[in-house]
Amino acid sequence: MSQAEQTETVDEDGVIESVSGPVVTATDLDARMNDVVYVGDEGLMGEVIEIEGNLTTIQVYEETSGVGPGEPVENTGEPLSVDLGPGMMDSIYDGVQRPLDVLEDKMGTAFLDRGVDAPGIDLEKKWEFEPEVEEGDAVEPGDVVGVVEETVTIDHKVMVPPDYEGGEVTSVESGEFTVEETVVELDNGEEIQMHQEWPVRQARPAGDKETPTEPLVTGQRVQDGLFPLAKGGTAAIPGPFGSGKTVTQQQLAKWSDADIVVYIGCGERGNEMTEVIEDFPELPDPQTGNPLMARTCLIANTSNMPVAARESCIYTGITIAEYYRDMGYDVALMADSTSRWAEAMREISSRLEEMPGEEGYPAYLAASLSEFYERAGKFQLINGGEGSISVVGAVSPPGGDFSEPVTQNTLRIVKTFWALDADLAERRHFPSINWNESYSLYKDQLDPWWEENVESDWSEVRQWAVDVLDEEDELQEIVQLVGKDALPEDQQLTLEVARYLREAWLQQNALHDVDTYCEPDKTYRMLTAIKTFNDEAFDALDAGVPVEEITDIDAAPRLNRMGTAEEYEAFIDEIESDLEEQLRALY
Ligand code: ADP
Repeated sequence: MSQAEQTETVDEDGVIESVSGPVVTATDLDARMNDVVYVGDEGLMGEVIEIEGNLTTIQVYEETSGVGPGEPVENTGEPLSVDLGPGMMDSIYDGVQRPLDVLEDKMGTAFLDRGVDAPGIDLEKKWEFEPEVEEGDAVEPGDVVGVVEETVTIDHKVMVPPDYEGGEVTSVESGEFTVEETVVELDNGEEIQMHQEWPVRQARPAGDKETPTEPLVTGQRVQDGLFPLAKGGTAAIPGPFGSGKTVTQQQLAKWSDADIVVYIGCGERGNEMTEVIEDFPELPDPQTGNPLMARTCLIANTSNMPVAARESCIYTGITIAEYYRDMGYDVALMADSTSRWAEAMREISSRLEEMPGEEGYPAYLAASLSEFYERAGKFQLINGGEGSISVVGAVSPPGGDFSEPVTQNTLRIVKTFWALDADLAERRHFPSINWNESYSLYKDQLDPWWEENVESDWSEVRQWAVDVLDEEDELQEIVQLVGKDALPEDQQLTLEVARYLREAWLQQNALHDVDTYCEPDKTYRMLTAIKTFNDEAFDALDAGVPVEEITDIDAAPRLNRMGTAEEYEAFIDEIESDLEEQLRALY
């Protein structure tokens, strides 16, 4: 139900009957499902999750210690909503969209925030509104009526809210206004401000989803090259501790060619989230030179905060992402970690004494996950434009065991799987994305983009690399039994080529100035250089040159320096001609 229809006010308070961690029951509360309520004398924020006769069950988004039976519960009569408007970029919110810096100022610390209210966007700040409509223009829901420079990087489009009727513009302002002041009026009496509310559990309306055909270019060779994600696609990263999950997510936030980044830190260990909160504001945006936060919204819910707030983090984040999508932007949303959200569902469900499903998770785990990922996509917008949300969910399987329910249910939904591997990380192979276990179901639909924008034989060259890596995987078993020298020469050579694929191409150093980002052309060029080595080396082998002589040439090890080479084109050209020369000289 939309905000505009929320007219009836509820004036009767309920009374707390019981408190069990984040789950509170109340009697005599006149409420509907998902209404936001204020619980106890301190007015802690909660949401109605079950109604049975006169008994209402509420999940509370703040710590409930000290709250007891008999205290009042007040219903707002409104669903959990976010306030959408300029100022969200460069903001750090908690799970119910309270700005952490404002809370900190009010409370002196980020972790003492019970019962404190703070608006999601600054209601006093004035923004320069530049109209894009004139009196007499007809506008419909979703149409852009003006623009605000939100940050140095992002133009914020002020849109007719989706639940308006639309009509003819009767007056339009220009100049400095707060988000609450009316900037455009319509002939049916509707007034448009620079902000709008939206209930988080309801997807913002959009037209049809389209098949995504453009990659979200990450600048990471293993991701772009082998397991690409589409703009509007879904991906999962399971990350055992120390496997490089944080670095991978930060690389995506920094380098992927999304316009907007929404980063949800959902109940990860407190210190890790603090790291993100401290690191992100320092990061430069390599695309623009501006701070990365100028196109980023962080939603942070550390594990010090109660479990129920993890869920609201997820919904708040995806709703903010949809709002920027509606402006026509390509949004990348990172959720770290969806396992913590699932654990919150498990805890709430067990307190509700629901029938547990697999490993104690509620039976609706799969449905909740898919409802969240469903909100990703490349969309036709209601204003006729296009926008996308790509969702990357981190998963933290206990003990790195992918057979557990959260990983398994996520895998059924997402189409790209980047399996971080603790063994690879231990061997310092980064990014530690395991090429045997990972996959992307977008490959085929994205190939035409790569063929058009990079090189026409893109998919063949990639397939060649995949085949070599597969063969290496098979040969490894034999090597472990009998040793490498027992293999025929051609297989020994294949192992050598595969080693260069791993070391020179799949490995990429996020901490190196040059190597940290690899443009698609360079990803392709590095791969074809290794293929040149392969082709020339096999020619030499066919001509009778012993494999030790082939692998001994001094041009080959230089392949390992391609990633860090500043002028990569010249560098690779030279390696290729040296490879040819040195190998042909052997026969
Ligand atoms: P996690 O979040 O999974 O615990 P991190 O992302 O903090 O792990 O990574 C652990 C360490 O691994 C980092 O401090 C860094 O030294 C190294 N590392 C991870 N990814 C890369 C990468 N792509 N390039 C270079 N080093 C990396």
